[in-house]
Amino acid sequence: MSRKLYDITIIGGGPIGMFAGFYAGMRNAKVQIIESLSELGGQVNALYPEKTILDVAGFAGLKGSELINNLQTQLDTMPEVEQRVGTKVTNVIRKDDHFEIETDQATYETKAVILATGNGSFKPRELRADNVDAVAEKFITYSVRDLKKFANQDVIVAGGGDSAVDMALMLEPVANHVSLLHRRNEFRGLENMVDKLKASSVEILTPYLIKQLDEIDGRLQVTAKKLKTDDESTFMADKLVVNYGFISNNKDLESWQIQPALNHHLVEVNSEMETSEPGVFSIGDQATYPGKDTLIVTGFGEAPVAINEIMKRLYPDRRMPIHSTALHK
Ligand SMILES: Cc1cc2nc3c(=O)[nH]c(=O)nc-3n(C[C@H](O)[C@H](O)[C@H](O)COP(=O)(O)OP(=O)(O)OC[C@H]3O[C@@H](n4cnc5c(N)ncnc54)[C@H](O)[C@@H]3O)c2cc1C
Repeated sequence: MSRKLYDITIIGGGPIGMFAGFYAGMRNAKVQIIESLSELGGQVNALYPEKTILDVAGFAGLKGSELINNLQTQLDTMPEVEQRVGTKVTNVIRKDDHFEIETDQATYETKAVILATGNGSFKPRELRADNVDAVAEKFITYSVRDLKKFANQDVIVAGGGDSAVDMALMLEPVANHVSLLHRRNEFRGLENMVDKLKASSVEILTPYLIKQLDEIDGRLQVTAKKLKTDDESTFMADKLVVNYGFISNNKDLESWQIQPALNHHLVEVNSEMETSEPGVFSIGDQATYPGKDTLIVTGFGEAPVAINEIMKRLYPDRRMPIHSTALHK
């Protein structure tokens, strides 16, 4: 029995792959999304579902989980779009006039490929300090997935980037007390968020580096060195939220049969979002071009560009749509 030949296979079911799936459905493409994690939603779902996202056009602010739920609802309006979760793509092989997509579950055939693989697989950058392993399970977390778990607790957030600032502000109304501990005096968050931080009740502990962690009477004692001095201080907490960024691994792609040109492990694309491999497109965090910003809204804009270009090539006789009402009844 011959295998189904998809028009488009979207590899990666983060927010951008999800929106691309919906848009491809609007174009009546035979499309599948393949996602290695057990749920769609990418970084937003896995790393910051509780964070309020402020820069998605049309929303004055919505939680990461709300954005993903909305994208899922939108995607589900296109039931013909096949959503495969828990399926990791292990190779993409060019055949004469199509591609073979090898996964850890099955092999699929497709006329065009969209790489929406974000930063590939990712994991938080871990805290290194004396005795960290002994206290990790009880006290340390690398993401805030459920705010309720921090209710009435004394929380230290460690880190100085955008998301550390966001997390401290997010925890402030729920926790008993929040401190933000960072090794520099300056924070790298968006100016507006740093202003909010300064106006908040979050206690700022800088410039400190965590040296040792101990459990004392059922609480966490954080010993930190004040940088450029010999002073050490101890701070007590119920939870330590570490936000030192993420280590991502998108090197898997480099072992595939197709070899799109890369720039610092990101896939270079042209103005149609096509890579140096004809028929292979890339959108979202995985794709790069001069001036690229890795933002959700940027990726949303890239999806229709790639899909309309693919559909134009696959079905040159079809009229190019402009507005959604003309796309789908
Ligand atoms: C803490 C934090 C806060 C952020 N805050 C904001 C913000 O406020 N506003 C904003 O615009 N952006 C923000 N971002 C960035 C935003 O999350 C990304 O731009 C967005 O997630 C990119 O979406 P994506 O779909 O391209 O990639 P991802 O979200 O990374 O999704 C890619 C998906 O591809 C899957 N995948 C990878 N390889 C394979 C494979 N071989 N087979 C199958 N599946 C695969 C991964 O499992 C993943 O689910 C933030 C990022 C972080 C980490």
